[in-house]
Amino acid sequence: MCGIVGYIGKKQAAPILLEGLKKLEYRGYDSAGLAVRADDGEVTVVKTKGRLSRLAERTGSGALLHGTCGIGHTRWATHGEPSEENAHPHKCMDGSVTVVHNGILENYRELREKLVRKGYTFHSQTDTEVIANLLHYYYKKYHSDPIDAVSRFMMRARGSYALAVLFEDYGDEIYVARKDSPMIIGAGRGEMFIASDVPAILKYTKRVYYIENYEMARITREGAEFYNIDREPVEKRAVRVTLDENAAEMGGYEHFMIKEIHEQPQAVELTLNSYLSGDYVDFSECKLCDKFLETDEIVIVACGSAYHVGVVLQYVVEKLARIPVRVELASEFRYRDPILGKNALVVAISQSGETADTLAAVREAKARGIRTLAIVNVRGSSIAREADKTVYTFAGPEIAVATTKAYSAQLAVGYLLALEWARIAGRIDDVQCAAYIEELRNLPQKIASVIENKDAIQKFAAENSTVTDVFMIGRGIDYAACLEGALKLKEVSYVHTEAYAAGELKHGTISLIENGTVVFGVLTQSEVLEKTASNLEEVRTRGASIVTVSFEGEKTAEAKYAFHVPRTDELFAASLSVIPLQLLSYYVSLQRGLDVDKPRNLAKSVTVE
Ligand code: GLU
Repeated sequence: MCGIVGYIGKKQAAPILLEGLKKLEYRGYDSAGLAVRADDGEVTVVKTKGRLSRLAERTGSGALLHGTCGIGHTRWATHGEPSEENAHPHKCMDGSVTVVHNGILENYRELREKLVRKGYTFHSQTDTEVIANLLHYYYKKYHSDPIDAVSRFMMRARGSYALAVLFEDYGDEIYVARKDSPMIIGAGRGEMFIASDVPAILKYTKRVYYIENYEMARITREGAEFYNIDREPVEKRAVRVTLDENAAEMGGYEHFMIKEIHEQPQAVELTLNSYLSGDYVDFSECKLCDKFLETDEIVIVACGSAYHVGVVLQYVVEKLARIPVRVELASEFRYRDPILGKNALVVAISQSGETADTLAAVREAKARGIRTLAIVNVRGSSIAREADKTVYTFAGPEIAVATTKAYSAQLAVGYLLALEWARIAGRIDDVQCAAYIEELRNLPQKIASVIENKDAIQKFAAENSTVTDVFMIGRGIDYAACLEGALKLKEVSYVHTEAYAAGELKHGTISLIENGTVVFGVLTQSEVLEKTASNLEEVRTRGASIVTVSFEGEKTAEAKYAFHVPRTDELFAASLSVIPLQLLSYYVSLQRGLDVDKPRNLAKSVTVE
């Protein structure tokens, strides 16, 4: 959510900042701005509402802003409507402190009132302008230096923030601080970079410092000095990141979403291969021993698509391992005082590893002394660092806001964990485990074959792009796949879609079915297949237009359109049945002329609660 960049070096800052913001566009934003310091110390701020292209236009692609030090921001509004005035950077009242901020200052009202009493005036509705003025207030009141002022701010602030700050009196420096919002610092030769995420700086350097919660840094052209909240120096070593710059490029595809849909076989294969050794699951690289995994209660916490992965895993793990699994929305878990047994294991799933709600849930579990295991895609992210153990997915950078390949890679890790829990619980023997693993190894190629047949879906999307209401129904794992399919269609195609457990429609929602309502039935689970088929028949007789997704060669229900996926073990079916639904949302979005990679109002990694 939102993007921060910063540059200090020998080159002109503005073009580099614009380029960095472009790389962070996927995170979602509604306005953008730059602040560049000229050699005479003057800090010029340019901000625009809307797309980055407008900011590039206003600044002549950066050429109109002179200076080798600057900060930039893409804003995802939380306090104050998206407008030029509310866009960042924000200056303090006398213009001597310039701030970009990601996150929410929760006690901004009380702090703003205090500052107003002290004579400060405000020009925006944002919480961020309060930060700029508060930093100025402390700086002046204590005749201090920037590190002192920032640490006083950190002690006073509630909420989340990644901050990059320019102080007029400290011309050749940028100050940063963070709590619960992502930020990394890139180290080049005679130049330093700041960014919310690694892809923004990969072109320039692969040496990265990770800054922890309640830490600050003073950044000059030569390097960075780190401090804790008590202003004591903190030693840090730069880490070499292994990401490939091209991985975050479109590579000939029209959109990131379709590129990432195509990358799913590879993402799943890499993820599986990382944790398989012959016929065994091998999590030794993540230091996951049987003792850590042994549990009689699994609680999965996640948001959005990762939550849907959790719903699939609930079925898979309970079936294979016979251990009770609960899936909870991270935002609910945290505030409902959950009851957890001593031996419970909390599993947090998040692509970015920065999802604020999921991070809060991990902290909640840890505070109660409960073990936490994270399934995360981004290395070094907050959830990965804070959970007791982390299993990484190998999906590579996911840029499109709507997840596809990270979802699939999370499922792959989940299946492997399910096999481990089943083995530890004595529910499966080596031979059974080997058979499941063999089937898992076939998944990537089966996913690829579903993607290859995308033309049929594209045709269907072209014929049905004006549809206004869709239902997706299934039972068990099929229902879980429907949840994800419906979310995709909502988020990128803006089609009102509801996923329903097939047996539940008749308890109310069936009243919404009328002539022409499109109802998808996902039918891969043999035990309940006929039941779902009957539910489809019930809606068909009430005028619905039926579309089915099922295994090849399976005769399921009478349908206007039928899509097929290769047969696999039913436990792993969601990995295949979800693919046509992802493709559907992509093509419907295209047909409607929407911004597939950056749907309105959405942010890629949701770093606010
Ligand atoms: N809370 C700040 C605002 O509304 C920052 C939002 C963001 O992270 O972009 O301006």
